[in-house]
Amino acid sequence: MKYVGAHVSTAGGVDKAPRNAETIGARAFALFTRNQRQWTAKPLSEEETNDFRKNCRETGYAPAQILAHDSYLINLGHPDREALGKSRTAFLAEMRRCEALGITLLNFHPGSHLRIISADDCIDRIAESIEISLDQTQGVTAVIENTAGQGSNLGFRFEQIARIVAQVRRKNRVGVCLDTAHAFAAGYDLRTPEAFAATVEEFDRIIGFRYLRGVHLNDSKAEMGSRVDRHAPIGKGKIGLEAFRLIMNDARFEGIPLILETPERERWAEEIALLYGLIGKKR
Ligand SMILES: [Zn+2]
Ligand SMILES: [Zn+2]
Repeated sequence: MKYVGAHVSTAGGVDKAPRNAETIGARAFALFTRNQRQWTAKPLSEEETNDFRKNCRETGYAPAQILAHDSYLINLGHPDREALGKSRTAFLAEMRRCEALGITLLNFHPGSHLRIISADDCIDRIAESIEISLDQTQGVTAVIENTAGQGSNLGFRFEQIARIVAQVRRKNRVGVCLDTAHAFAAGYDLRTPEAFAATVEEFDRIIGFRYLRGVHLNDSKAEMGSRVDRHAPIGKGKIGLEAFRLIMNDARFEGIPLILETPERERWAEEIALLYGLIGKKR
């Protein structure tokens, strides 16, 4: 079963997310469990937590269909010790919010070296940050997202992600989210069956499919290898529809959230229907 959905709004509370997903015909959803642009977040009330769980039950979303995304402010590989501590504290708080909500997957961008420390040093810090948060929580998997490699963001090469994963001891609680637009901008071709197969094989060889916990389905406004992060609606960007047809017909992408982060949210219902319509279609 393919779980296609989108990163839905939580305006008015996290408990609103399941209904917002149901409205657009989604079988999965992503969400921020707090305001993603602020350091501090007001604690979740018991009512909000209970309502979220109840709404998930009523709308039929199981944990395997829900992918939380952390705040954009967090940098788990920060060069500065104090700033790193602040990010680690905030990330742990995000993990705890997931625990409270019954969410098992927390997606995050690995981190940035800010051109102050080496990529290797940054990777070590990221891995240590993950370890610290896993030590203090239960049942939540840290899901590392590949990046476009914009600025000094790490995680644009599969090798970098593999090196983070290798350093985490609890292998059952570390995973990867593959963002199609980021992979493409980082130089991984997905446009033809041959190119798609080669990229996916490389992912499997370097990281391993067993770590794949989610996918971000985005087309790209930016060119392949541009290292620029600009999402486009499905089939309207430089990747094109074929890559998404291949994903929708590939059994390795079953049972995990496949999340749209495309720019025009009013088109999500249409895009979800379009993606489901690709199942069984020949090129
Ligand atoms: Zn993404
Ligand atoms: Zn992006």
